[in-house]
Amino acid sequence: RFVTFEGGEGVGKSTQARLLAAALEARGVNVVLTREPGGTPGAETIRNLLLANEGNGWNARAEALLFAAARSDHVERLIRPALAQGHWVICDRFIDSSRAYQGGGSGLEDHDLLNLHAIGSAGLLPDRTILIEVPAEVTAARLAQRDGAAVDRIGGRSAEYHTRVAQAFAQLADAGPERFVRVDGLGERDAIHARILESLVAMLGT
Ligand code: C5P
Repeated sequence: RFVTFEGGEGVGKSTQARLLAAALEARGVNVVLTREPGGTPGAETIRNLLLANEGNGWNARAEALLFAAARSDHVERLIRPALAQGHWVICDRFIDSSRAYQGGGSGLEDHDLLNLHAIGSAGLLPDRTILIEVPAEVTAARLAQRDGAAVDRIGGRSAEYHTRVAQAFAQLADAGPERFVRVDGLGERDAIHARILESLVAMLGT
């Protein structure tokens, strides 16, 4: 089973991904917990290239290609082999982040991003995607708290950019209700975790 976590910056994706992995492991499931961009040495190198360009940034197409290249290595070397062994893979961000950031945020065409994904990763899609949503103002405030400025770690993008990203995520979820589970990120950490776990119970076969 392949489960991804999506959402804006500082919505608690990584924390919830960790809690889910621990809960599944406690039920005897073999879990590989990973993240994007990154997850393999080559993809982590690309992550550093992307994050190192703070305030300057790549042009949107170059950025999309770098994310797609990182994902290709990650899918080929880690995600597919783990799934083939019957493990659950939990990934913090995946293709929907490309569609929301490089598409909704940076204005690239959705079909181009899907083509890149088809080329790089044979179009692999998650079985379930947990979208953690918080209002855009809350994201800006959390970013300010984390990094001392209301900008993200790539290119110091504006609050408007993040609003477009949040809208794009919401549209993707609306268009794919069978894959997406939408979670209110303003709730209490353990309650959010319980809701996520409950949404996956059917997949656990219990
Ligand atoms: O998940 P995390 O917050 O660590 O993401 C790292 C950075 O990469 C964030 O600043 C996020 O905005 C950015 N990102 C992006 N496009 C993606 C995935 C992540 O701009 N497709």
